[in-house]
Amino acid sequence: MAKNCDYVAVDIGATNIRVAVGSQEGIRVKHSEATDRLNGPEGVPRQIARMIRGLGVEPVAIGVGSIGPLDTRKGVIGETPNFSFKHVPVVSPLVDEFGVPVRIMNDCNAAVIGEHLYGAGRGLDNLFYVTLSTGLGGGAIVDGNPLNGKDGNAPEIGHLTVDPDSELVCGCGCRGHWEAYCSGANIPNYARVLLRNRDLEGGLLLKMVEGDLGKLTSEMIFDAARKSDRDAVFVVEEVGKTNAVGFANIVNAFDPELITVGGSVALNNPVMMIGPIKKGIDRHLINRKPEIMMTPLGADAVLYGGLALAMKLAGGTF
Ligand SMILES: [Zn+2]
Repeated sequence: MAKNCDYVAVDIGATNIRVAVGSQEGIRVKHSEATDRLNGPEGVPRQIARMIRGLGVEPVAIGVGSIGPLDTRKGVIGETPNFSFKHVPVVSPLVDEFGVPVRIMNDCNAAVIGEHLYGAGRGLDNLFYVTLSTGLGGGAIVDGNPLNGKDGNAPEIGHLTVDPDSELVCGCGCRGHWEAYCSGANIPNYARVLLRNRDLEGGLLLKMVEGDLGKLTSEMIFDAARKSDRDAVFVVEEVGKTNAVGFANIVNAFDPELITVGGSVALNNPVMMIGPIKKGIDRHLINRKPEIMMTPLGADAVLYGGLALAMKLAGGTF
């Protein structure tokens, strides 16, 4: 019999795969590697199995939080723009390898469960988690229950429309989605639109990109804003205004008591990301404003959700 605390969590991201082992008390050991995107759909589960073996534990159950879109019933990652291949099998290969229960869920849905059981959402029945990362996503606890949707992909807040006539086209192909403005991958596109008619001469941004705004990255914009470059500050403020609209849409639809925020863009720039949301949200709200804060779980929110999922699968009590 394995030690009863060998619950294993997996976080499948486009950039990194992370695994952890833990218990009610939290994460005990964790490990991260760059995602294997070179060896086809089978390479990903193979890498996960090797990483779990590397933790030196005997899993009793495995909970996976993953980039989507997912087919949670089949246990596969569907057609994601993050991989050059389709339909990555996750659950079956891990069940074959370890012979224990395995379940996969959308990474943001896992993160909100992590927040609910381990983080700032403990004891709250209505909670929302937003990731501001390479992409933009969310997870919800509604009336005490995780919201999953028919395929496990609710709520895809990054693909809420903020302007149907926008010239910004989202990675999903639709026009004017929130993610087309405010995700780490898309902030530079939005910035190029915002900066088109501004005189950038003498500013830091133009210097950083050596005169070519095609080279602009989100990191450059935040770095320049930290140094009070007027153009970068302007972009960050406009991103914040659009985020305020997105957060207000969440509050009006879900009426949460708390929204926690994670994801690399927010974790690296908490003040610049959260400040404008808090400042701009009121004018779009009908529901009472909830508390909005950075997740105390940092980059581990999805792993905590995976851990909670594994414990539930194994019939463990929390
Ligand atoms: Zn979209």
